[in-house]
Amino acid sequence: LRALAQEPEVVAIGETGLDFHRNLSPRQEQERAFREHLRLGVEMDLPVVVHCRDAYKEAVAIMGEEGARRGVMHCFSGNVENAREALHLGFYLSIAGPITYPKSDRLRDIVRFLPLDRLLVETDCPFLAPQAIRGKRNEPAFVYHVVRECAAIKGVSMDRMAEAVAQNSRELFGSLFLNGAERAGSRPLSD
Ligand SMILES: [Zn+2]
Repeated sequence: LRALAQEPEVVAIGETGLDFHRNLSPRQEQERAFREHLRLGVEMDLPVVVHCRDAYKEAVAIMGEEGARRGVMHCFSGNVENAREALHLGFYLSIAGPITYPKSDRLRDIVRFLPLDRLLVETDCPFLAPQAIRGKRNEPAFVYHVVRECAAIKGVSMDRMAEAVAQNSRELFGSLFLNGAERAGSRPLSD
């Protein structure tokens, strides 16, 4: 991973993280891999894309211990306290299709709480299609529904919300928005 992460196309480390819902690997093993990926992000000065399910307390504690300060909690599903801790470290929170589901009041509270300059949106394609097309295969274009819902919750225009998430994406994944030559020159490549 260290060698691959030096390629100019690489803009982040991840997804990585903890999933105590599915527990596809033993917890200790998940934590060990997560720490190594976080260290790599710090070492390479790359943001980290964090997957987390039923493990926010543990994940945020590990992120703090490993000095991770740049990244995104993808498809955020934690509580306000978890959100506060992740923001405190410097992370963004990413909101996906579930924000449009009738039962997602807790997630709507999170969006209400989130500053506009820390909010990202995503599809998690092919999963988590927004309410209007729920049950179908999700597509990047459907992220429109997520932006619209977030705008309504925050009481801002669609344009303002779209501008905010675009700006936040540029700040977090800056080199993704460069062309190939600019990218190659933007990071020191080791031999
Ligand atoms: Zn994930």
